[in-house]
Amino acid sequence: MKQRLQQLLQRIAIACEQAQREPQSVRLLPVSKTFSHELVQQAIMLGLTRFGENRIQDIRSRYEYFAEQPVQWVMIGHAQTNKARDIARYADELQSLDRLALAEALQRRLDGEQRCLPVYIQVKTAQEDSKFGLDPSQLMPFLAQLKHFDRLQPQGLMTMATQTDDPKEIRRCFAQLRLLRDQAQEAGYENITRLSMGMSGDFELAIAEGATDIRVGSALFGHRA
Ligand SMILES: *Cc1c(COP(=O)(O)O)cnc(C)c1O
Repeated sequence: MKQRLQQLLQRIAIACEQAQREPQSVRLLPVSKTFSHELVQQAIMLGLTRFGENRIQDIRSRYEYFAEQPVQWVMIGHAQTNKARDIARYADELQSLDRLALAEALQRRLDGEQRCLPVYIQVKTAQEDSKFGLDPSQLMPFLAQLKHFDRLQPQGLMTMATQTDDPKEIRRCFAQLRLLRDQAQEAGYENITRLSMGMSGDFELAIAEGATDIRVGSALFGHRA
């Protein structure tokens, strides 16, 4: 894993150089979903402290298993509204906020837990029915509504690109997210700064389009079963 991490950091550095960006401007979120606690422990020993998971049940089990260690758990998968209580309890961040009902449920549960939660709004930029996320046209009204939820702390936007080999289409998705972020900022949503986009197979394109957070699983942990 040490070698894979070094290779990954090098890929990030090269992508940043080509995009004329500082490597520190891109934050790596290791995605540990489906990998064993032992592998996550190895990653912790290498100095990684935040991990992405796509099921809240898995965040809960990591939270309990790694209770003694200073690690944070980021929810990146589709979240059902009835899981809001566990998200409020066990997640340190949610990158897949995609609808009002979920925001409402989270606000209520976070109130109960006396916590606040950093969130990214997931936007659907891909041309696939299977992908979750807010329709781009709904982003501005959604941001206006989010103001009423003081327990949610919007950080930025998140997306998954179309699953395709066509780099032009992938870049179109990432460019669209960046444009939406810029529009949100111009509209006065100054805390919408971050762009979570890019995975093992496409993060170089995401960095070229301005990603601030890349979510990388298999390039770090190996192939998923
Ligand atoms: C699994 C997953 C990733 C990481 O995918 P890799 O191809 O393994 O890097 C990133 N984001 C989300 C939302 C995921 O579910």
